[in-house]
Amino acid sequence: MKTVVHSFGAAKTVTGSCHLLEADGLKILIDCGMFQGLDEDKNYQPFPFDPRTIDYLIITHGHIDHIGRIPLLVKEGFRGKIISTRPTYHIARIMLLDAANVMKEEYTVEYRKALRRGRPWEARPPLYDEDDVYEAIDLFRVFLEYNQAYHLSDNITITFKDAGHILGSAFVEIKIKEKDKQKTVVFSGDLGMTERLIIKPLQFSKDGNYVFVESTYGNRKHKSLQESIKEFKNAVIESFKNGGNIIIPTFALERAQEILYILRQMYDEGSLPECKVFLDSPLAIAATKIFLRFPEYFNEETKRLIAEGKNPFLFPYVHFSQTPEESKKINSITSGAIILAGSGMCTGGRIKHHLKHNLWREENSVIFVGYQAKGTLGRAIVDGAKSVKIYGEEIAVKAKIYTINGFSAHADQPVLEKWVSNFENLINTYIIHGEPEAQEAFKEKLKQDFNIKSHIVEFGEPIILI
Ligand SMILES: [Zn+2]
Ligand SMILES: [Zn+2]
Repeated sequence: MKTVVHSFGAAKTVTGSCHLLEADGLKILIDCGMFQGLDEDKNYQPFPFDPRTIDYLIITHGHIDHIGRIPLLVKEGFRGKIISTRPTYHIARIMLLDAANVMKEEYTVEYRKALRRGRPWEARPPLYDEDDVYEAIDLFRVFLEYNQAYHLSDNITITFKDAGHILGSAFVEIKIKEKDKQKTVVFSGDLGMTERLIIKPLQFSKDGNYVFVESTYGNRKHKSLQESIKEFKNAVIESFKNGGNIIIPTFALERAQEILYILRQMYDEGSLPECKVFLDSPLAIAATKIFLRFPEYFNEETKRLIAEGKNPFLFPYVHFSQTPEESKKINSITSGAIILAGSGMCTGGRIKHHLKHNLWREENSVIFVGYQAKGTLGRAIVDGAKSVKIYGEEIAVKAKIYTINGFSAHADQPVLEKWVSNFENLINTYIIHGEPEAQEAFKEKLKQDFNIKSHIVEFGEPIILI
């Protein structure tokens, strides 16, 4: 029987991860993510396969571009088993419920606008609702530890290995037995760096014949983590000398916890001036609680802190702002506050209110610690806009702006290359999850440095693994 793979997402783009592996009479889906940004419309197209025929869905990690369409898949008839690590299950739960809520809110606004235009049908209904999310969560049935083998059939065994990307993230090794032969197919999910602040770093594996590898930063080299931490600490100390507030736009998952971790470190070292640290995001609060449930997934340094009886993220200055009222109260504070809120690229969420109240005062600072995509409010500020529009109002940018680049959760070119070249018995490498420029550069580099041949995967092309 033929083993064949189709990529129905994250092909020549970074979002919508969804790969279908057919082997030994089974249909196995690896991730079922949402398309984001320019590709958003693709979420509304039917799946290019019948969801009812899928036996297993393997989830590499809890980012929405890898899990966002699971409720849709279930709505369309998927009844197979979902396999993930335990943290990924908990993360998926909060991320999918959040996604359903955001879609509902957006629809309410869009519907009102469309109604005023006299064309209510123009408002696109949400992809799914909260009930669909609960149905989907119910199908998470198999929870695996890293390096624990699990049999999907007599001939197919899967194993998760630590991807070092976010809490619970994995790359998956799929061993397929055929008569006297065995082949190993690897799907990278998203890969992290070799040094991580909280979680363990990326694992390297030798066993892989066919490797599907992400290439988000296939053309970039990151600044070192230690250097970035130093930069961040200096930015905080310098900012407080001006007597204002510090605003940190941050993703709810991983980055928010990393920033809390560094601030806690400063507190322990005695270098953090007395202040109030607001984690102003219900999603980030929920994510932080999930982190605290899984200390066994932490790196040695973080485990040591816990053994000493310390909480890696919490210290006396930290306040959780759960409700909108608690969030609004922060607006009246004019100095001595560090405000962590999302969204990470300032496209929505509570961060926009904080920017509106703080950007125009020169004693304040904004510290960017994550990637800002083109066209976002965050990018406009990073690029030096003198003023920006927030909720229809023009706001002067007088605050000091810092951009710190080295906190990436994604492997950079040297690490990606090292990870791929570590496989012995590599037959072919398939490049997925990247923009075309990054993919071309990575392909070229693999050829140049290791004489590894690779293929950039097209959406829906059949890839036969002989
Ligand atoms: Zn990811
Ligand atoms: Zn991804």
